[in-house]
Amino acid sequence: MALERTLSIIKPDAVGKNVIGAIYNRFETAGFRIVAAKMMHLSTKQAEGFYAEHKERPFFRALVDFMTSGPIMVQVLEGDNAVKRHRDIMGATNPADALAGTLRADYAVSIDENAVHGSDAVESAAREIAYFFSDEEICARTR
Ligand code: ADP
Ligand code: MG
Repeated sequence: MALERTLSIIKPDAVGKNVIGAIYNRFETAGFRIVAAKMMHLSTKQAEGFYAEHKERPFFRALVDFMTSGPIMVQVLEGDNAVKRHRDIMGATNPADALAGTLRADYAVSIDENAVHGSDAVESAAREIAYFFSDEEICARTR
């Protein structure tokens, strides 16, 4: 098993539902360590930059509007096989397809407002972590 880091975001809908602690509990129960965290309210430019890979998609404007609609919690999770295991805990992009017991099944209402973000590969995780955190802000025991 490879020790990996992944970027997690608790999106504005879930922060609004007051379930930051409940979601952190899922991460810790799954064996992840939270090695960096911050609450942010993204600007339009920050949200557009983060989701640049989706800029040609029809939902891009709505996604940026949603991600800037309120505060988010951004964290780096560290653990064995963290990228894939975090995606498994999150559930499918569309909560209607998410397995029971996943974060999106439990906390998301629609594909537009789906509670959480997680990096989809080790390479994108490195880029997304660097988008929000400097090396000094990551407080891993393995640093
Ligand atoms: P994921 O967040 O599961 O990695 P994607 O990277 O494909 O999913 O998409 C990024 C985000 O864009 C999704 O989490 C969701 O909020 C939004 N999104 C994706 N597909 C759609 C869609 N068909 N309609 C509306 N929003 C979408
Ligand atoms: Mg994605």
